[in-house]
Amino acid sequence: MMSDLIYFDNNATTQPLEEVVEAMQSPLREGYANPSSVHRFGQAVRYRVECAREQVASLIGASSKEIVFTSSGTESINCAIRGSLHLRPDCRNIVTTAVEHTATISVMEHLQSLGYTVDYVGVDREGRIREDEWQSKITDKTALVTFLHANNETGVLFDVERMAGPARERGIPVHVDVVQSLGKVGIDVGRWPIQLLSLSAHKFHGPKGVGALYVRRRVRVERLLLGGGQESGRRGGTENVSGIVGMGVAAEAALKALASHSAHVGALRDRLEHGLLSRISLAHVNGRGSERLCNTTNIGFEGLGAEAVLMLLSEAGICASAGSACSSGSLEPSHVLKAMGIDERIAHGAIRFSLSGLSTESEVDRALETIPGLIAKLSALNCE
Ligand code: PLP
Repeated sequence: MMSDLIYFDNNATTQPLEEVVEAMQSPLREGYANPSSVHRFGQAVRYRVECAREQVASLIGASSKEIVFTSSGTESINCAIRGSLHLRPDCRNIVTTAVEHTATISVMEHLQSLGYTVDYVGVDREGRIREDEWQSKITDKTALVTFLHANNETGVLFDVERMAGPARERGIPVHVDVVQSLGKVGIDVGRWPIQLLSLSAHKFHGPKGVGALYVRRRVRVERLLLGGGQESGRRGGTENVSGIVGMGVAAEAALKALASHSAHVGALRDRLEHGLLSRISLAHVNGRGSERLCNTTNIGFEGLGAEAVLMLLSEAGICASAGSACSSGSLEPSHVLKAMGIDERIAHGAIRFSLSGLSTESEVDRALETIPGLIAKLSALNCE
């Protein structure tokens, strides 16, 4: 990383670990054979892919047969949702939340154009699901229930067991987007009554452009990409071997670091959050009253515009995001903060700081020395 930068934008993407970058070299250099080739060279590459499948499966307590490699979290989400609707062909309703990632929202909008009804269940001021509404929307007409585990903007965590419960009672498939939570909190598919999970490597120090879909044993998902018989006939296309190997190494490292991760990153996030709150009276933390990812703080600087704040932060070498990276550039406050009912004056100035295991105390302290002055400067300009 550029050495003077303070990178607090890890929910957008993370820095690949050195061991990940190292492991990805060999499939690009000497191990370039096609893993579907029957010769020894091809089978050696197949072995690398299967090792990575085991590594990813271990991170979520799954069997390697339940892992399908994809190109991204977005592809996994598309495949999980669109590919499972055939399981309840007479049902034309989907239940989701009002705070999903754009990948899910776009699929929902597409399905609505095909005649499906979608219920977007709302959240309270702290980002918690409205439980009564959630339960009442899941009926025998529901084809699928889909929701994210950790919100990418606020870090607020949903209780998967509770939210999946009403669907399980009716035999309705449940898909969970664990793209943000994976590697930050322990996930065990043995404990969750769900059928499908979407994963993405670049959010836990793996490479971009590779993801995975967990499909519980005996659940049949229709494939999106028609082609060869790769991924046991579940996704056509020659595998991104280098990316898959990198994802496997990142998954193994994430599993090893899991126990220490939340203590280390949580302490840094809290230091940053408390430091900003105590120094800046205009600062409000969105979703603070909920269980949250240990790495994320979403801070609204009341009366300021997020774009202006981000620009000043960027000039000072601090990387952060306004809401989700996908919606930055738009002046509208994020749909997540809107759904939480956050005051517009706070939502407009909301900045997401997201740390990682590679963040340091000295970065947090440098940020605390810099940010209050920038905010004071900006609010003085606003008052002129
Ligand atoms: N779901 C969530 C919650 C995300 O935060 C993201 C990425 O920001 C995605 C899905 C999409 O993942 P990918 O970037 O791998 O397509």
